[in-house]
Amino acid sequence: MAKKVIVENLIKKYGDNTVLRGINTSIDDGEVVCVIGPSGSGKSTFLRCLNRLEEPTSGTILVDDFDLTDKKTDINLVRQNIGMVFQHFNLFPHLSVLDNITLAPIDLNKESKEEAEKTALELLEMVGLSDKKDVYPASLSGGQQQRVAIARALAMKPDIMLFDEPTSALDPEMVGDVLEVMKKLAHQGMTMVIVTHEMGFAKEVAHRVIFTDGGNFIEEGSPKDIFENPQNERTKSFLQKVL
Ligand code: ADP
Ligand code: MG
Repeated sequence: MAKKVIVENLIKKYGDNTVLRGINTSIDDGEVVCVIGPSGSGKSTFLRCLNRLEEPTSGTILVDDFDLTDKKTDINLVRQNIGMVFQHFNLFPHLSVLDNITLAPIDLNKESKEEAEKTALELLEMVGLSDKKDVYPASLSGGQQQRVAIARALAMKPDIMLFDEPTSALDPEMVGDVLEVMKKLAHQGMTMVIVTHEMGFAKEVAHRVIFTDGGNFIEEGSPKDIFENPQNERTKSFLQKVL
């Protein structure tokens, strides 16, 4: 199977603080990977290195055969293929839902307004918000804003989607709709890396679960392996606390 992402000996330090301690992993085309682990274990840093929102201290990251750690690589070009969704959705408050979604395709992908709007309307349908195209973000619930943020990321037609705790800032009753959209994407074959505390979602949707602690990938495997038969003591004690 084609490898979408290959990470070799990735080290990230902030000053004296080593946050990623030599990560090795790869992600297949169409694979859904959930990353779980305690706060401060380096999950966000790992995700942010994958589109170079953070610069690795050392190591290699290949995305679609582009070397992100090579200074000659056009990082903006690579980034257009990698969608990212954050805990806080960061929609543009002064733009309508539709304009939030079409801005980057028109500006960066040089799509025509008609073309961008057609795609945006399809995406709004996909996330269940067709009736909200003309409103401003402030009039939407957190869950609706997050679904718009997902649509906005998808409008660039990425082939990898990174999610950093996309439901952690939401009221509980909003979580399900967002997870439903992510599940749909997974079933469409999108390559996804998802940092999440939603263990039920990880069990159901992930092909692979990675447990991080202290800047290392401690253990990885199928959801069944990790949730039903964890091998490492740290994985066991983390799961006892969250399950
Ligand atoms: P997680 O997402 O698992 O909670 P993070 O990747 O956010 O963990 O953080 C891992 C460690 O890196 C923490 O100790 C955090 O304080 C530190 N860290 C994260 N971002 C920065 C930064 N921009 N500058 C300095 N330290 C940081
Ligand atoms: Mg984090």
